[in-house]
Amino acid sequence: MNYKIPRGTYDILPKDSAKWQYVQRIFRETAASFGYEEICTPIFEMAELFERSSGESSDVVQKEMYRFQDQKGRDFALRPEGTAPVVRSFVENHLDLQGGRHKFYYIGPMFRYDRPQKGRYRQFYQYGIELIGSNHPFFDAEVISLEMQFLKALGLKKIRLEINSVGCAECSSDYDAALQDYYRPHLAELCPDCQKRYEKKPRRLLDCKVPSCKVLRQDAPSQLDYLDAPCRDHFAQVQSYLNDMQIDYKINPAIVRGLDYYTNTAFEIIVDDLGAQNSLAGGGRYNGLIAAIGGKDTPAIGFAGGFERLLLAMQNEGISTAEPLKPQIYIIGIGEAAQKVVIQLLSQLRNRGIYAEYNPDKSSFKAQIKAANAMGAAYAGIIGEDELSSGMISLKDLASGEQSTVDPSDLPNLLIESKNKESNNL
Ligand code: AMP
Repeated sequence: MNYKIPRGTYDILPKDSAKWQYVQRIFRETAASFGYEEICTPIFEMAELFERSSGESSDVVQKEMYRFQDQKGRDFALRPEGTAPVVRSFVENHLDLQGGRHKFYYIGPMFRYDRPQKGRYRQFYQYGIELIGSNHPFFDAEVISLEMQFLKALGLKKIRLEINSVGCAECSSDYDAALQDYYRPHLAELCPDCQKRYEKKPRRLLDCKVPSCKVLRQDAPSQLDYLDAPCRDHFAQVQSYLNDMQIDYKINPAIVRGLDYYTNTAFEIIVDDLGAQNSLAGGGRYNGLIAAIGGKDTPAIGFAGGFERLLLAMQNEGISTAEPLKPQIYIIGIGEAAQKVVIQLLSQLRNRGIYAEYNPDKSSFKAQIKAANAMGAAYAGIIGEDELSSGMISLKDLASGEQSTVDPSDLPNLLIESKNKESNNL
């Protein structure tokens, strides 16, 4: 039996893991510079949580959720997205009763049963933030600026920000009515899913990927013409803050969210050369969600992005990430007697956080030096008969070929200094 990885998933092999660590580190650093702290929630939750938050009729719940019953018949789902679990935790831990602003970020795998293709997987890794506790338009702009700052820190240039306002529960009902008026004469031309959406959530018609529905959408009325005065003002202020932050954007009325608790700002970051899966990150305000899942009515905004598409976009722009891990020193012991000293030295160095390699499989000096060079080690530390009797170590700089004799107690500091010098020169 040959075991195969499940379709739509992938392994991150050691040769690639440095890249993943790098983008995650930059995201954590960016989030921290905006005052966000990490929240970790379980990978599975009650399926009902997602039915409530994404909507029972949504594609995520209807078609994409990995749903299962546990041994006691409880209905669970692997999380398809990160916001509902954060909101569930926020309410369950009574943070809604504390008032004030709460800033969370998360990183982790999400699961959707979708048709796998480039940039679309069944298990994929998202990063995201949630700012809970303010309806001020400044924070809409600030949340967007965090994502833009992150992408800038990675060196991405070919990205576009598109924004929209989906209004509030009050003004969007006028818009739903206008959409139904527009689509009524075209009902027969809609796909079966959209025919259902027409009754339940007309705004979802704008999100359909079926080509004939996409054509009809072009002449549909725009949500922006139906915003009430407070929503219009909110949207104008978000734009004004984005202008002050010198963030370029385009207004795109086609960015929609189909549920009532999504309010006001919605946004998306697009990378053109990613092909069909060109959305790098998306987010928006969800002022009604916390109350919808049983918490105290609290406004909130957030976004989520996908690491796979991020890494693809970086690759397309020729942005190199992290160097593979290289030993700072490769220790070579010559002869049986050296072995003990080598082992002591290894743990001494590793205790100081220095990456030291040793391979007792390789016997000859020549083979060991070759291995040290192949691994890209900065130095070789040689312990043979002479060194054993003098209590010193021969240190060979593998780049210059220079060799010196050092006291083992000086070795850690010497290696740390040389590493610092090297990173300052980068
Ligand atoms: P969403 O939660 O659907 O708003 O998606 C937010 C971001 O997550 C997208 O812009 C993508 O970068 C990423 N994403 C969503 N679904 C997938 C998937 N199936 N595979 C890979 N990345 C995804």
